[in-house]
Amino acid sequence: MLGRPRPPRIARRRSKLHGWGVFALEPINKNRRIIDYAGELITHKESLERETRYLKRGQIWCFTVNRRWVRDANVGGNLARFINHACKPNCYTQIVGTTIWIRAARKIRAGEELTYDYHTDGEHVIPCRCRPGCGRKL
Ligand SMILES: [Zn+2]
Repeated sequence: MLGRPRPPRIARRRSKLHGWGVFALEPINKNRRIIDYAGELITHKESLERETRYLKRGQIWCFTVNRRWVRDANVGGNLARFINHACKPNCYTQIVGTTIWIRAARKIRAGEELTYDYHTDGEHVIPCRCRPGCGRKL
């Protein structure tokens, strides 16, 4: 049947990095689209107010789409909001219009945790936990 390519099967599980994570349930080829980062489209002004609240709880939900919009995965988010940050990730993000695609940066094995670099531009108060002694602040 023709149509959109089937997305790879992924699932939320407990992560060794931090809280929940998202894991590949099947091998994923390099550059394959895995999932879009869903969330309410809000302005940067609104995002600043919400992020201040989220950061107090050690959470990062707001993803910058462009100069005008931010997606807040705390409202209307999908599985993508549980994908953890890593400084040497196996996924990358690609923005098409207002859609944020998470794609495989290399071939990913079944059972691997998915990660991407958050490239946060905010307060940098949350210590990165991608590996022991990383030292970066998100
Ligand atoms: Zn790190």
